[in-house]
Amino acid sequence: MTDYTAKLQALRAHLAEVSLLNGISAALYWDQMTYMPRGGAAVRSKQLAYLSQQTHARFTDPALGKLLDDLMPYAESLPADSDDAALIRVTHREYQRAVKVPAELVAAIAQHTSETYQVWTEARPANDFSRLQPYLEQTLNLSYRYAECFAPYDHVADPLIDAADYGMKADDIKALFSQLRAALVPLAQAITDQAPADDTFLHQHYPSEDIERFTTDVIKRFGYDFERGRLDKTAHPFAVRLNSGDVRITTRYPENTLSDPLFSTLHEAGHAMYEQGIKADYEGTPLAAGTSAGVHESQSRLWENVVGRSYAFWQYFYPHLLSIFPRQLNGISLDQFYRAVNKVERSLIRTEADEVTYNLHVMIRFDLELQLLEGTLRIADLPEAWHARYQADLGVRAPDDRDGVLQDVHWYGMLIGGAFQSYTLGNILAAQFYAKALSEHPEIPDEIGRGEFSTLHSWLRENIYQHGSKYTAPELIARTVGKLDVTPYLTYLRQKYGALYRL
Ligand code: ZN
Repeated sequence: MTDYTAKLQALRAHLAEVSLLNGISAALYWDQMTYMPRGGAAVRSKQLAYLSQQTHARFTDPALGKLLDDLMPYAESLPADSDDAALIRVTHREYQRAVKVPAELVAAIAQHTSETYQVWTEARPANDFSRLQPYLEQTLNLSYRYAECFAPYDHVADPLIDAADYGMKADDIKALFSQLRAALVPLAQAITDQAPADDTFLHQHYPSEDIERFTTDVIKRFGYDFERGRLDKTAHPFAVRLNSGDVRITTRYPENTLSDPLFSTLHEAGHAMYEQGIKADYEGTPLAAGTSAGVHESQSRLWENVVGRSYAFWQYFYPHLLSIFPRQLNGISLDQFYRAVNKVERSLIRTEADEVTYNLHVMIRFDLELQLLEGTLRIADLPEAWHARYQADLGVRAPDDRDGVLQDVHWYGMLIGGAFQSYTLGNILAAQFYAKALSEHPEIPDEIGRGEFSTLHSWLRENIYQHGSKYTAPELIARTVGKLDVTPYLTYLRQKYGALYRL
C-alpha cells in the first residue's frame, strides 16, 4: 500500500512538470495571438516548437510508463469513480497514445503545420490556393503517417477522429450526420422559402468599447470569473487555459457588425467556464482539461446559442443593449432584434452560419476530409470539389477560393481529418445537456428571462465542468444523458424555428 502511495506521489510529481511546460506554452501562445509585435514571430515559433518537444519527451519518458504499469493494478483495486483511479487510468491511456507516435513525426508535424499556417495567412488574402497545394499534399502524407501509428483501424480517419473525440469512428459520425441531414435539409428549405429576416441594422458601426462593456456584463452574469481570467482582442477568437487560476478568452471587433464580437465572446466564455469549473485538485494533472473536443464545443454553443440566442435572454438584455446603442437600434423592437440574430440563410461562411444551416457546412468539410484520406479526391481537385458541394448542399457558390476552400484555418494549421465533426457533436450535445438540465430545473428559462444563470451554471459545473477529463466523453454522456442522440437537438430547432417562421 505504502509502495503505491510513493509511486502515486512520483506520478504526480512527474505530471506536475509536464503541466508546468504546458502552462508556459499556453502563456507564450496567448501572447503570440494577442500583443506580441510582429518581429517576435520567428523566435516565438522556435520557442513553442522547443517546448512542445520537451513536453512530449517528458510525457513519453519510459520512467513514466513504468510508474503507470506499476500503478494500474492499484487503480483497478479502487472504486471506479475514485479520482486517483481516474488519474492513473487517463494518464495511462494518454501515455499509450503518445508513445505510439515517434518523436521525429511529432516534430515534423509541428514544423510543417506551423509553416503551412504562415503560408495560409498570406495565400488566403491573395486567393492563391496553388501556393498551398504542395503544403497540403505534405499535410495529407503526415496525416497518413500519424494514422499508421495506430494501425490496424477500420477507417484511416479513425485515429484522427479518436484523438479529438475519444471513442468515435468515421462510421459513427457518418451515420449520425446522415440522420441529421435528412431532417435539416427540409427544415432549411421550408425556412428559406420564406422572406428572409431583416438584419441590416446589425451591420453598421458599433463602437468596440461599448460592445465590450455589454458582453463583459453578460458573461459575468453567466458565471465567467474575471478574477481567474481576462478578455482581450485577437484576429481569431479562442479560449486558453494557462492554469486553473487563469483561463483567458479573446474576441475580435470587425467593422460594421454587432453579431460577430457579441456571439464569439459568449462562445469563448462557454469554453472558458468549462475549464474554470474543473476541480481545483486536478491542477497539474491530465485530468485538468475538458474531456473531448465535442464536449468542449457543446459548452461553448450552449451559452452562445441555446442561451444567447434565446427569446428569454433578449427579453432581459435587449433593453440594456438598446440603452447602449440607442441610435443604431432606434425603432427596432425586441421581436425584430430576436429574428435578426436568428436569421436563417444559405450562406458561404461556416463561422457566421445560423443554427439550422451550420451543420451542413460541417458535413461538407467532413466528407471532403474523408475523401482526401480515402484517396478518392486529389488535393489538386479540392477547390472545385468544395464549390460543387456548396452548390449542391447550400445552393451557393463562393466567388473565389478565399471564401471557398481557403476559408477555415483547420487544414492549414493541423493534420487533415478529425477537425470538424466536433462542432456538430457539440450542437447535438448542447441540446441534450440543456434538455436534461431543464428536466431537473424547469425554472431555468424564467431565470434566464431575469438575467440570472446560477441554476444552469451550477448544473453544468456539477454534472460536466468539475469532472474535467476524469470521465471520457462516452462515460460523461452515459452519466448525464444516456447516449448521443440527435432527437433533443432536432426538437429544439423545430420548436424554436417553427415558432419564428410559423412552420
Ligand atoms: Zn468553440
